[in-house]
Amino acid sequence: MKSPNRLFATAGLCAALAVPAFAQTVKVTPLGGIEGEFCPQDRALVFEDPNGTRVLYDPGRTVAGASDPRLGKIDILLVSHMHGDHLGNAHNKAPNAGSCAEPDMSVSAMPNSVAVNIALAKNAKIVTGSEMPPFFAAKLRANGGNPANSMLARFGGSVTVGGVRIATVTAMHSNGLDPDYIGGELGKAMKEAGIAGDVGLATGYVLRFSNGLVAYLSGDTGVTADQEKVVRDLYQAKLTVMNIGDGFTTGPAEAAYVVNELVKPASVIASHANEVGTVGGKVRPGSKTEAFVKAAKMPVHVPLSGRTMEFDATGKCTAGC
Ligand SMILES: [Zn+2]
Repeated sequence: MKSPNRLFATAGLCAALAVPAFAQTVKVTPLGGIEGEFCPQDRALVFEDPNGTRVLYDPGRTVAGASDPRLGKIDILLVSHMHGDHLGNAHNKAPNAGSCAEPDMSVSAMPNSVAVNIALAKNAKIVTGSEMPPFFAAKLRANGGNPANSMLARFGGSVTVGGVRIATVTAMHSNGLDPDYIGGELGKAMKEAGIAGDVGLATGYVLRFSNGLVAYLSGDTGVTADQEKVVRDLYQAKLTVMNIGDGFTTGPAEAAYVVNELVKPASVIASHANEVGTVGGKVRPGSKTEAFVKAAKMPVHVPLSGRTMEFDATGKCTAGC
């Protein structure tokens, strides 16, 4: 039970901030391929906690490198797994380069990756699970950065950075590290043998923001029992970022099953569609995105690049959707 003094102190703090904690919102801004659209390579989302902490999830290829002006301050990077479309093996030449269907991703980020280059430039923490942290620590060290900025949150544990609690959860996917990130004779030999580096299991994330909002970021995954037993029952996620692309991850029907029957959040942000999801900012008829929006029982928000959405503690979109 809170003491009257504690309650008073909390009320005073909220008055000072002018907005009660429960009414504060987390801002979610997609950094996609084309302004105002949902494009095939889009994965990157920036979450801004009400306290100002900014979290970049899966920068991938649409963030135009560490100097992309859309990034602003970045405190924390999350990388669900090591595949090039998430870690960022190449990136857009500039924000909005090329078209939605055919982006200009002609700038290589090898052997560092887009994620590592951003972490170095922003002096950000990289929080990953499984066995990925030593890879990031080595890349940071090799480039004059601080290896301690690579932090572990393995399944069942969590770390809190800048007031955001970060946990990882299982993702049913693969997680091979392209030998080009390793380089040298070893990388060359691995490439010739057709094998990838082992950095443990792929992951998803559960974030708890300072206003109480709990968000589940699926990463690339199939359907898992943990989506019910861990993401819903234990963490009680109210906002879900769900990958819907099919082939590599859950498709629209499977993703709809996950949100309708397992996680049951208040709202969903579609992600990783691997298609032109919108034209003129409207969902394209016949698209996987449309199929998912129709199949989900709760509001599905399509992440239009550069358009900020705001979510309250209950997972409800209160602005920008
Ligand atoms: Zn992927």
